[in-house]
Amino acid sequence: MTTSASPTAALNAAGPAPGRPVAAIDTGRVADLIAQLLVELGEDPTREGLIGTPDRVAAWWSAFLSPAGAATATCFTETLVSDQLVIVGGMSVWSLCEHHMLPMNLQVTAAYVADGEVVGLSKFGRIAQHFAGRLQVQERFTRQVADYLTGVIGREDVAVAVQGVHLCMSMRGVRMEAAHTTTVHTGGRFGSDPVLSQQFLTLAASP
Ligand SMILES: [Zn+2]
Repeated sequence: MTTSASPTAALNAAGPAPGRPVAAIDTGRVADLIAQLLVELGEDPTREGLIGTPDRVAAWWSAFLSPAGAATATCFTETLVSDQLVIVGGMSVWSLCEHHMLPMNLQVTAAYVADGEVVGLSKFGRIAQHFAGRLQVQERFTRQVADYLTGVIGREDVAVAVQGVHLCMSMRGVRMEAAHTTTVHTGGRFGSDPVLSQQFLTLAASP
C-alpha cells in the first residue's frame, strides 16, 4: 500500500527562496549579457575561442536553475518498521554561493526515524539537488532539506548534515583549499535523544 505524503507545505515554508527565479529564463537575453560581460572584462566575444561561449553559459544557467522537482517524494507504508534510524549519505551536489557566485560542493547526509513508513530512497538525492540548484548559502540549504523531509514524513524526527567545500574560500581571498564547512540540523528526537543524535553524527562522519 502506498500513501502520498504532501510535502508541499514544507516546500512553501522553504520558499520562495531568495535567488530563485520565478519566471522562465530568457536564455537569449542572458547570452547577450554574458557577451557584454566579456567585453567589459577586456575580452573579444567574437574571437574564435569565445564564439558560442555566451550561448553555452546561458544554457548552463537555465539548466542549473531548473533542477528536477522534489515535490514527488512519497512515503511508503511499512508496518513492520518502527523506530528505525535511516541514514542516506554520500550525496554530492553542486550549488552556487550567493555571495560570490562561485561553486560550492555539498556532501549531504540525511536521516530520519522510520516509524510505520519509509521514504523512497531515490528521492533523497533529488531533494538535495532541488535545493542546490539556485544561489544559496550552505546554512539555508541544510535547513531547507531538513524542512522538506519533515514535511514528507510528517514528523520532526529529521537530521541533515552537510559538508561543503566553497570555491570562494579555495580560489579567492584566503585561498584555503582544504577548508570545509560543516552544518548540522537536528529536529525532533535527533535534538532530544543524545544517543540518536550521536549515532547520526558518527555515521554522518564515516565515509
Ligand atoms: Zn562565497
